[in-house]
Amino acid sequence: MIRFESVTKQYPDGTVAVDDLSLEAPSGEITVFVGPSGCGKTTSLRMINRMIEPTSGRIMLDDRDTARLKPAELRRGIGYVIQHAGLFPHRTVVDNVATVPYLMGENKKAARRRAMELLERVGLDPAFAKRYPAQLSGGQQQRVGVARALAADPPVMLMDEPFSAVDPVVREQLQNEFLRLQSELHKTIVFVTHDIDEAIKLGDKVAVMRVGGHLAQLAAPAELLSRPADSFVAGFVGRDRGYRALGFADAGELPLESETPVRLGETVRAGREKARDDWALVVDADNKPLGWLAVGRFPDSALDEPITEQMLNLGGTLARLDGTLRAALDAALSSPTGRGVVVDDGGHLAGTVTASHVLAKIEQRAAAERERAAQEAGAEHVAPAGPAP
Ligand code: ADP
Ligand code: MG
Repeated sequence: MIRFESVTKQYPDGTVAVDDLSLEAPSGEITVFVGPSGCGKTTSLRMINRMIEPTSGRIMLDDRDTARLKPAELRRGIGYVIQHAGLFPHRTVVDNVATVPYLMGENKKAARRRAMELLERVGLDPAFAKRYPAQLSGGQQQRVGVARALAADPPVMLMDEPFSAVDPVVREQLQNEFLRLQSELHKTIVFVTHDIDEAIKLGDKVAVMRVGGHLAQLAAPAELLSRPADSFVAGFVGRDRGYRALGFADAGELPLESETPVRLGETVRAGREKARDDWALVVDADNKPLGWLAVGRFPDSALDEPITEQMLNLGGTLARLDGTLRAALDAALSSPTGRGVVVDDGGHLAGTVTASHVLAKIEQRAAAERERAAQEAGAEHVAPAGPAP
C-alpha cells in the first residue's frame, strides 16, 4: 500500500506542482492518476521512489516512511516504466531486460534466461530478443520497457504514460496485455495518464487531478462516471459518461420480471392468455426466445390458429445474464414491448427487464459505492493514526 499524507511539492522557482495531496493506493491494485498536462502527475509519481523529494508531508510504503529508507533500497522494490520505454540504445533487447537481474547478482546466463521468460510474458516474439531497441516499433519497445521493470519482480510498479506514444490500435493491445499480466501478478501499481478512457479501463481506483496538484476525486471508475464530484471532473470525464457507466455492472444483478412465454405451435388463444400488455413472448421447444406476438392484432376468428414464426415481431436485441447493463438497456430500448429479453448462457429465457429498472440499478450501485467510500472515510476517523497514549 502506498499512502500520500498531505504531500506538497514546491519547486525552487516557486511552482507548486502538488498541493496537500492525501490518498491511498491499495496493495495489489491499479491506481490511476489522471488529469490534464501540468497537473502534477509525474511529480507525484516520482516522489514515491524519491526521484523527487516532497517539500512537506510524507509518503508511506506499507507503513514505512519512504523518507527513512535509502533511495537505492527503496527503488529495488519499485519498477518504473516511462513513455518511450527509456531503453539502453546500445544493448540488445534481451540484455536491456537482463541488466536488472544481472545487477542484482544473478549470473549472466540465468539473467538472460529470466529476460527471455519476461519477454514472452509481455507478449514479445523471442525473435526480437537479439535486436536493438531502434529496430523495434514503439509498441514493441514499450513491451520491453515493461519486461525490464518487471525483471526484479518488484511488488510496486510506477508507470508514467507508458502507452501514450503509440497509436490507438497498439495502445489497446498493450492495455489488454497489461490487464492480463496484472491479473496474474497482482502488483501494486500507480499508473499515470492524461487519457480518461485509459484511466477508466485500467484503474481499480482513479484519482482525477487538476492543475495545481489538487486531487479532485478518488473513486472507482463506475462511481466516477455516475457521480462526478464537481463540474471539473464531470467535464473531464466527458458528456457521455452516463451511458459509459452502463458498461460496468452485470445484468445478472437486475430485478428480472418473469415472463410466461408461449411456445411456437400453441394457439393464439394461449398467447392471449399468457400475454402482458397485449404482448406474449414466444419461445421454441428449448425455451429460447424467438419473438413477440401482438395478441390484440388477431381477430377472434384466429384464436384457434397455431402461432407461426411469420406472426412474430422479431425486434429487440437479447441481453445475457452475464452481460453488461448497457446490453440490458439496449435490449429494453430496442424491444417493441419495452421489455428487454434476458437469456442465460445457454440462450434460454431468464426473464425481461425494463429501461427504468436498468437505470435504477445504476443509481443504486453508485449509491452503494458512495456509502462504502463514506464508511471507509469514517473508519479512518475512529482509528487514530498515532500510537495509543
Ligand atoms: P504532469 O506530469 O501532470 O504533466 P508535472 O508533474 O510534470 O505534471 O508538472 C507539474 C507542474 O510542475 C507543471 O506546472 C510543471 O511545469 C512544473 N514542473 C515540473 N518539473 C519542474 C521543475 N523541475 N522545476 C519547476 N517546475 C516544474
Ligand atoms: Mg507527466
